[in-house]
Amino acid sequence: MDSMETVLLVRYAEIHLKGLNRPFFERALMNAIRRALAPAPVEVVREQGRIFVYGIAADRLMEAAARLSRVFGIHSVSPTCAVEKRFEAIEEAASVLMRETLDELEGESHSFKVFSRRADKRFPLRSEDICRELGHTLLQRFPALRVDVRAPEIRVGVEIRQERAFVYVREIPGAGGMPVGTNGRAMLLISGGIDSPVAGHMIAKRGVAIDAIHFYSYPYTSERARDKVIELAKIVARYAGPIRLYLVPFTEIQLAIYDHCPPSETTVLMRRLMMQIAERVARSSGAQALITGEAIGQVASQTIESLTVTNDAVSMPVFRPLIGFDKEEIIDRAKAIGTFDTSIQPYEDCCTVFVPQHPVTKPKVEKLRESEALVDFAPMIERAIADMQLVEAAEG
Ligand code: ATP
Ligand code: MG
Repeated sequence: MDSMETVLLVRYAEIHLKGLNRPFFERALMNAIRRALAPAPVEVVREQGRIFVYGIAADRLMEAAARLSRVFGIHSVSPTCAVEKRFEAIEEAASVLMRETLDELEGESHSFKVFSRRADKRFPLRSEDICRELGHTLLQRFPALRVDVRAPEIRVGVEIRQERAFVYVREIPGAGGMPVGTNGRAMLLISGGIDSPVAGHMIAKRGVAIDAIHFYSYPYTSERARDKVIELAKIVARYAGPIRLYLVPFTEIQLAIYDHCPPSETTVLMRRLMMQIAERVARSSGAQALITGEAIGQVASQTIESLTVTNDAVSMPVFRPLIGFDKEEIIDRAKAIGTFDTSIQPYEDCCTVFVPQHPVTKPKVEKLRESEALVDFAPMIERAIADMQLVEAAEG
């Protein structure tokens, strides 16, 4: 067995649809894989529609596979045994893996099926032959096994490639989507709430690199509220890669709105000002669109009228991936991606500190433009941007 090496086999999603762009997508995926496994010095190799990751110690293989299951663009990952391209070596590896699998399951009596793919047509056995022969061997060596071609409990996979053969029993589902960086860059307006991190995750899944911007109103919001947002950005960065997070002081603008504009309009005005600053920062950061966690009707500032008034403040496209989601669905996703527990920590957000008693639910664009013109916000916007801080949020 000494010629057996453990290697991760990565199958990718959707990339094959991209024709001429394929090498570009594959390179982006390979970079994302290296980043996800850093600082381990792995070797990532592309071969005929598959990516192989070499150089991971056997005892770290499952953890590495788990990390890769968060990388967008991956369909599934299998920890494999790489062996010489001889049928005896394949039999040997499959037997070792079957022994391990049976030790993990209860009892010896389970169903299995062999799957095979012969990418190297010089290999003397065809796929069907490999399946039949290897199935036969396993039945001889593990007499309590039985074959089930419809719904096997154990799936033994064999891939015959140019250099070697790869044998595996596990296929860990990947995150799907497209590699981050293959579809441009967008700026996520991130609050400390449940919704915006989920929105960022969804857009990153489509291959969009993410920058983020957060508005805080010290001393009305605390230091800990800011730390919470940094923590949320780090969790999103596990999927999206490192995120440039801009922290913008918003107190002056918020107090000016509060002091000079109609009370029922403060939330919508705040949202307009946030969008304008976000758009400015997005342009200088190379982002081409804005992302928010809004959903139709969730609160007064998310009626169709309010969203219209918010959109009117900017010219960039605004992506609202949660637009048709119920809160329950958003919460399920937040739990699945790991942001929920941080999001529900009770630190106040600037939007909640300054909520009006009776917010308008059907604001009119003309009216809100007038209200906004009551204050000269331009110099305040300049100051907010000048005092903005940049934090690099990366997976910790
Ligand atoms: P979330 O759960 O994301 O906070 P929400 O349901 O509480 O959303 P709002 O507070 O109205 O809704 O915010 C709507 C969207 O505006 C948020 O999803 C986010 O994209 C953006 N936003 C709100 N507050 C801030 C903030 N302090 N900094 C940056 N963006 C914000
Ligand atoms: Mg909120």
